Amino acid sequence: MFYLLIVLLQMKILKTKNDLKKAILNTKNLGFVPTMGSLHDGHISLIKKSKKNSEKTLVSIYINPTQFNKKKDFKSYPRNINDDIIILKKMKVDFLFIPNSKQIYNNKFKVNFKLPRFERIMCANHRKGHFEGVLEVMDRLLNIVKPNNLFLGQKDYQQQYLINKYLKKKHKFRLFVCKTIRNKYLALSSRNLNLSKELLSKANYIAKELFKIKKKYRLKRFRSSNSISFLKNLLNKKYQIKIDYLEFRNPKNLKKTDYRNKFRLFIAYHINGIRLIDNI
Ligand code: AMP
Repeated sequence: MFYLLIVLLQMKILKTKNDLKKAILNTKNLGFVPTMGSLHDGHISLIKKSKKNSEKTLVSIYINPTQFNKKKDFKSYPRNINDDIIILKKMKVDFLFIPNSKQIYNNKFKVNFKLPRFERIMCANHRKGHFEGVLEVMDRLLNIVKPNNLFLGQKDYQQQYLINKYLKKKHKFRLFVCKTIRNKYLALSSRNLNLSKELLSKANYIAKELFKIKKKYRLKRFRSSNSISFLKNLLNKKYQIKIDYLEFRNPKNLKKTDYRNKFRLFIAYHINGIRLIDNI
């Protein structure tokens, strides 16, 4: 009897759509946390939020090939499924979905989404096809999971913005956008695992500098020479990074704005070939 109870309470690991659908059939208030694994405290904060706001929580781990615009990036993306399972069991997550590409794409990798031209800003401009791949996999996952609540991170601001805009009406979930978890200043990211200690420290200094820049602009304590292109050059030279973009944007509609209005500072840059993003 006691053994049966333990088995019932254990996290269920599902690998196929059909098994997953059966497992969640009677769940009334399901929270969904989609991830690509190599879990860190950022993911954990989303899971905690889901556990607080949902009857049951489902985490998925799937590294979606269609959102990578470079094969090398897909190949080098960190994979740590055994450690992830230990973390999720400890957190008493109810369901873990780890599908393969046959389950999601029937191995055909067809992408139906096409972003309108005006959305091709920031990461959509610098990573061709990235968000089409993200929307595609999210649409497919949401069709399977049909969650009541969806938990996404503010760290991937443009991602949550587009999911909210293009998928929320169709799938009728309640969206929770969770704040970015940082180690000192640096936003946690699975990609940080590919950085050496020195590069991590450099990335932390860059994030610290961005917080300073934002404060300076918010308090309007800057010289007119401190234009965004000036700042870009400065960061470029000081830290020897390749910046894809550094922009002030309106958090509501992602339109370009300046310090006189409400803004977030968005950045994407490459450090030793590894691409990091942040928004502050
Ligand atoms: P990923 O595994 O990188 O696809 O991320 C899965 C989810 O975790 C996404 O909704 C991310 O925005 C979120 N996430 C990633 N890093 C962080 C972080 N540092 N703080 C909060 N959420 C995060």
